[in-house]
Amino acid sequence: MQTQPDLSNHSLMPITPRPDLVFVRGAGAYLYDHTGKRYLDWVQGWAVNCLGHAPASVARALANQAETLINPSPAFYNAPALELAQLLTQHSCFDHVFFGSSGAEANEGAIKLARKWGQLHKNGAFEIITFVDGFHGRTLATMSASGKPGWDSLFAPQVPGFPKAVLNDLESVRQRINANTVAIMLEPIQGEAGVIPATQEFMHGLRALCDQHGLLLILDEVQTGCGRTGTLFAHQHYGIEPDIMTLGKGLGGGVPLSALLAKRACSCFTPGDQGGTFCGNPLVCAAGVAVVRSLTADGFLAETRRVGQQLTEGLNELSREFGLGEVRGTGMLLALELGCARGPEIVERARQAGLLLNAPRAHCLRFMPALNTTLEEVQEGLQMLRRILAETLRAQA
Ligand SMILES: *Cc1c(COP(=O)(O)O)cnc(C)c1O
Repeated sequence: MQTQPDLSNHSLMPITPRPDLVFVRGAGAYLYDHTGKRYLDWVQGWAVNCLGHAPASVARALANQAETLINPSPAFYNAPALELAQLLTQHSCFDHVFFGSSGAEANEGAIKLARKWGQLHKNGAFEIITFVDGFHGRTLATMSASGKPGWDSLFAPQVPGFPKAVLNDLESVRQRINANTVAIMLEPIQGEAGVIPATQEFMHGLRALCDQHGLLLILDEVQTGCGRTGTLFAHQHYGIEPDIMTLGKGLGGGVPLSALLAKRACSCFTPGDQGGTFCGNPLVCAAGVAVVRSLTADGFLAETRRVGQQLTEGLNELSREFGLGEVRGTGMLLALELGCARGPEIVERARQAGLLLNAPRAHCLRFMPALNTTLEEVQEGLQMLRRILAETLRAQA
């Protein structure tokens, strides 16, 4: 146990409201604060710790690599980057990989790749159709690609070239296609918008539109990839193949690692087009190798789907019991619609009770447990959530 840290006079920029506590340790499904209090963690670093907190395989890979080679520079090959790129191409429909440090950086790379491809093959077409309520990151271009309310004027002017269509409305996409269009970019499940899946029909419609008009289909799987939805990538649920995909969050098991993957036909970067000081460094790639080996091990994702199904059923029961709305999502990316704007209040009460939740929008709760969380942990969380909902909704009466 540690002494109460002084949080009244710290020097961190106030980028988000934070509760008055400091997390000092994590193990699997649990986090521990400075007082030793334990929390069941259904945020997991925002769907980042796919194997839970401080997983032994990732810790070992990091420790071994840290003692061997941390960064020779991206201008030289290193073994973990080569191995991780091979693993990712073996287990996907893609041929080439670029590694970055954040989801936004991978998406910036996807945008640049599409624009370059447009210069080479489509008379300089550069527009990428993106979606209302979509989320692609916090750089200027990825904020412009996002459809988050208010982001069109925050830090104006925006980066041009991202006309917005409406998810699951194919006609709205068709209307925005013109001679300048080079690609369509979306999340298979809009995560920050509250776990809103693209329908089967819509995703197949987009693939067909892209084929018909010679456009690239870019899937931002930063949140949905790496096993989060119960398959290695969410697009496997649809049985379609994108031309370009980005990964982030879960890929490093908690350390900063992202990837831009492309099929050979649109992998058109040449030396000088793309790079970054930390891209593909062996330290984080060693963690990525440990993660992808775990996710692709026999039976791992089948168990994720099984436990995820139990969580879905438990949430459906709570929804019936408390007269709440629909349960959305799949695998370990789920949301419960509340039918009222009390998400933040429930998140606050849950934290006090020792359960970490997230409300991406005030009217819904999002659940992102570790992919290897157990049935027992899921039952424990559901029981806690049941008590919290009872308290909160009783307080309303
Ligand atoms: C989190 C997220 C990003 C941004 O990733 P960062 O690592 O925060 O830059 C991009 N797209 C989606 C779908 C995300 O969920």
